[in-house]
Amino acid sequence: MKEKELVVCKFGGSSVQNPTQIKKITQIVKEDNTRKVVVVSAPGRDETYNQKITDHLLNCATRGKYFSEQKIDISHEQSFEKIMGKFEYLCTGLDISPKGIVDALKKDLNNCSLNDEKRIAYFLSRGEHYNAKLIALYFKASGLNVELKLPEEFGFMLSEDYLNAKVLEPSYENIKKSFDFKEDTLYVVPGFYGITQNKELAVLSRGGSDLTGGELSYALDADVYENWTDTNGVYEVDPRVIPKANVIPRLTFKELRLLSSKGFNVFHFNAMLNCKKSKIPINIKNTNNPTHEGTLILSERVPMEDLVGIAKLDNMASIHIQKDMLGEEIGFSAELLKIFGEFGINTYHYPTDKDDIAILVEQEDLKGNINNLRRQIEKRLKTDNIYVTYNLSIITLVGIGLKENSFTIVDAITALKEKNISFEMFDMSPSKISFHIGVSQAISDIALEILHEKMLVNGYK
Ligand code: ASP
Repeated sequence: MKEKELVVCKFGGSSVQNPTQIKKITQIVKEDNTRKVVVVSAPGRDETYNQKITDHLLNCATRGKYFSEQKIDISHEQSFEKIMGKFEYLCTGLDISPKGIVDALKKDLNNCSLNDEKRIAYFLSRGEHYNAKLIALYFKASGLNVELKLPEEFGFMLSEDYLNAKVLEPSYENIKKSFDFKEDTLYVVPGFYGITQNKELAVLSRGGSDLTGGELSYALDADVYENWTDTNGVYEVDPRVIPKANVIPRLTFKELRLLSSKGFNVFHFNAMLNCKKSKIPINIKNTNNPTHEGTLILSERVPMEDLVGIAKLDNMASIHIQKDMLGEEIGFSAELLKIFGEFGINTYHYPTDKDDIAILVEQEDLKGNINNLRRQIEKRLKTDNIYVTYNLSIITLVGIGLKENSFTIVDAITALKEKNISFEMFDMSPSKISFHIGVSQAISDIALEILHEKMLVNGYK
């Protein structure tokens, strides 16, 4: 196997939120000299309100509107205090003079004359900006040969959608040119923000430091993109429901997507796209348990087991529509989905037959909409009956091995039958690597436990 030469690491908010965590990441970086690019997030949450520093910055930029709109009682002055307090705490704990960092940050926030989105983007970027500066100083003081690479200087070019910017093509060339790895340099890069053609700062969508790391890995053709967080990796089932759940050692991008979109959430999806294109493995690792191998996300793997994980999505509702011969009516489903679209409601699976179609949606999306949605469907499609079932959970079993062995489905159903768990819905995805079982939410944890026990503990591992 080819020796690995270049690893891009990204450390998320919880990995850099206090001096102890920053000392841990310093150790991690020192342990392996192939870790040559370090992308950092803003310093996690504050110690009083447990809110992210990025959210406090958003609250300052909007003069308190951001939290007050969510009925959170934190003024912009209090947010300002928490941001400053956090950076002071980090500097003191790491023996760095707070002057350079804290004073400059204060000046940036107080003197900003931008308005609207540009002001918010500028404020948001400051968390990553100053945290990277501070971490670079600490790395240097710990004997590492560090260079701070700022996105506005090396040309991480973003579109002018200031709060949800897209990465522009010239960024890749700029990165290649700027990161030359001379003299064993370790590069520290703030995640989440970049610069527009007009030389203004813009931010990616929330959680966007993942994306900065993914794009750097792609541009530099890294051997691995390590994404350091506070869990051991991707779990086969939600460990909050089943504490003995194992971490999945290897899974494909596609499997992760299927698990994530159905309730697992570990990673910013767009961050994977270019890594997937270049087949760069992503390794999810735990800063608090660095010797654990974590989860490797790959383009391809040998399907040794049928299943890798089971996800569960709660608070779903099913809208079951009846109309004689709807299956023969050309354009019926298209019009139906259009109506959901007009209400801004995302639709999930739609099992259908001659006279019936069911649409699964998130219950939350029906709030304030169900009355008018029903009215539009009845009026435009002349339906016979519409039944809405609330409080459903969709359990999704995922694994590329399912394609090879569809009998796994039989075993899943048998396991539920043995424990008298009835289900409301069943559906296999066209990719044949996942299938969905809809159960009443009241019994969904038990159903998940039964399936986990049968399929992952005793069955296919
Ligand atoms: N600090 C930013 C956020 O909270 C970006 C990130 O952490 O990835 O969304």
